[in-house]
Amino acid sequence: MSQLYSKDSIPPAEALQRLKEGNTRFVGGALEQSLKGWRPGLGEGQRPFAVVIGCSDSRSPAELVFDQGLGALFVVRVAGNVIAPSGVGSVEFAAAQFGTRLVVVMGHTRCGAISATCDIIRNGDSAGSANLRSITDRIRPQVEDLVRLEQEAHVNPELVLRHATYANARSCADRLRHGSTLIETLVQQGWLHVVPAVYDLDTGNVEFLERIVPQGA
Ligand SMILES: [Zn+2]
Repeated sequence: MSQLYSKDSIPPAEALQRLKEGNTRFVGGALEQSLKGWRPGLGEGQRPFAVVIGCSDSRSPAELVFDQGLGALFVVRVAGNVIAPSGVGSVEFAAAQFGTRLVVVMGHTRCGAISATCDIIRNGDSAGSANLRSITDRIRPQVEDLVRLEQEAHVNPELVLRHATYANARSCADRLRHGSTLIETLVQQGWLHVVPAVYDLDTGNVEFLERIVPQGA
């Protein structure tokens, strides 16, 4: 049964607050929810309160970074946290089946996929296989101008990578908002919120790049 517009859905501002609190536990080394592991009854159903589209990087598992237990997050992981049709479909699925109202598109610092895309632009190399190109081609538009700036104005490549990470997270969030008619409609109605974020590998902290004003505030 569809859970779209369910009254039981966790409002987006509350869902975001849960993620912030979980990230604070993660940074402080005080994991709680994610350590609980399997529990009886888990197979009966799920009601994830947020979708996280994150990078496949081995250092960025959303469940740990936000200290959430099994059943709390619906996670899509792909190198460079790019928005591909399968990711859009996964968000549609979560919104319709579980009534999930918050999607966080989470990039991270020192991202290898973004760094590789910058190198391809710098050196004019090919990405390799068509499959790899399907990732780097989706990152390229966000980083092309920044790499040009690096070459013309001698900007530090590390700084370029950092800016590229933020630009990619914002752009991926925007692409998702317009990823399908269903998602576009839900976002316009204020039902579904898409928030870009960047997870800092050196501090563990997740910076959310947009705020959600709670309804009625
Ligand atoms: Zn990455």
